[in-house]
Amino acid sequence: MWNMTETLPTYDDVVRAHERIAGHAHRTPVLTSRLTDAELGAHFFFKAENLQRMGAFKFRGAFNALSRFTPEQRRAGVVAYSSGNHAQAVALAASILGIPATIVMPHDAPAAKLAATKGYGASVVSYDRYTEDREEIGRALAAEHGLTLVPPYDHPDVMAGQGTAAKELFEDVGELDALFVPLGGGGLLSGTLLSARALAPDCTVHGVEPEAGNDAQLSLQRGEIVHIDTPQTIADGAQTQHLGRHTFPVIRDHVTDVLTATDAQLVDCMRLFASRMKTVVEPTGCLGFAAARERADALRGKRVGVIISGGNVDLERFAGLLMP
Ligand SMILES: *Cc1c(COP(=O)(O)O)cnc(C)c1O
Repeated sequence: MWNMTETLPTYDDVVRAHERIAGHAHRTPVLTSRLTDAELGAHFFFKAENLQRMGAFKFRGAFNALSRFTPEQRRAGVVAYSSGNHAQAVALAASILGIPATIVMPHDAPAAKLAATKGYGASVVSYDRYTEDREEIGRALAAEHGLTLVPPYDHPDVMAGQGTAAKELFEDVGELDALFVPLGGGGLLSGTLLSARALAPDCTVHGVEPEAGNDAQLSLQRGEIVHIDTPQTIADGAQTQHLGRHTFPVIRDHVTDVLTATDAQLVDCMRLFASRMKTVVEPTGCLGFAAARERADALRGKRVGVIISGGNVDLERFAGLLMP
């Protein structure tokens, strides 16, 4: 086991990332709901990354990573593999920075996502998700054309960029007693922990993953990264099979705990966000609030932060999920 402390990001990296994304990423609003506060007996602050550019926090990490490219890397271009928000984040960041982008997507990816990615000017390479390995395709493209691969979470610049959302939240609302964060591969959670430990050392920070895929919970119990099969859940942004080698040590050393939420709890939260806060949240974006609601007793009287991580769900699916 080699020592990775030199390659792990710190809060200083989050501060520099924040300077880089300023003027490009939105400083998203913090939503509140008096009805929710009254019902749960706590004061809730929702960081609305569903209102971020391209609809999720992933723009922060992608833009930070791409803006650190050398002139040669910029000329050759970037490659990313993703069927979801990371693809659109890299495509948009690349178009803003004038970097050619190639996105590896499954050939059966939703038409809206394909169109959005192409709309940002990226070229899309499609593959068969049942017979081909996207990481291999990404690596082959990178090697063949000199492209730089930007992974969705396991990269210090991506983690530092994701940490800027929590930095803004603490700057805007001050001290919090607890903070609930959606968790897939751990880019958002690890970045959040860097900001929380620097700005609010007493705030408890809870990662929340789908109950169907609790690999992070298992990884913390066992003290090593646990790999699982792709979990069956409506939280498609958190269907990851394992934490990253950069995200795991930060989470292991700083997180308070990792909790889980069921698909039914996520749908309940989608309904609450739509009806009370007039805001569309994708299933994965509801993970944090779903777990916080379950622990209302422990949170009574406290100041509680929740990161709403994204809002990309097409309206037909949204309506279908909310139907009784
Ligand atoms: C990617 C994503 C997540 C999970 O983020 P990680 O950095 O992989 O933990 C959560 N919510 C949304 C909306 C996402 O797109």
